[in-house]
Amino acid sequence: MSAYQRILLAVDLTEESKQLAGSGKALATAFEAELHVIHVIEPLSLAYGGDIPMDLSSVQEQIHEQAKSHLAEFANGLGVPQDRQYLIFGRPESEIHRVAESQEMDLIIVGSHGRHGLALLLGSTANGVLHGASCDVLAVRVGVIEKPES
Ligand code: AMP
Repeated sequence: MSAYQRILLAVDLTEESKQLAGSGKALATAFEAELHVIHVIEPLSLAYGGDIPMDLSSVQEQIHEQAKSHLAEFANGLGVPQDRQYLIFGRPESEIHRVAESQEMDLIIVGSHGRHGLALLLGSTANGVLHGASCDVLAVRVGVIEKPES
């Protein structure tokens, strides 16, 4: 039996997701595992705490439609079929945990910027996913990696 059988790749659908795609694909191939992809849309009402006195439903609908096509394009490019693509509304950390548990994933892959200082104190999504996950979590370093001055 291989070490990982069901791998969940969590993507924010930014350019950096392409870096994660390479790691996800390589691991899934190495372990002969199923690759699944999740993107979570944070509801505007959650992001702004319901403070904006206007109806945001049409904006939210546009965000949803865009995310839907971006996720499909991204996942199809990886050869991940539609029934392994998850587009969910909610808080990224908790929805990633929920789907990982309900779909019996044994590895979650997230990107990590390896931030320092205040950003580290406030916590990143990778941090949030790591704490409380019921399976292994792999944080893949993404973004520009600064080289030490010589
Ligand atoms: P961040 O902490 O926002 O810089 O994100 C770090 C990593 O968390 C990303 O590379 C993704 O793996 C994951 N992530 C962030 N936001 C989302 C999201 N909305 N849906 C799914 N995964 C996400």
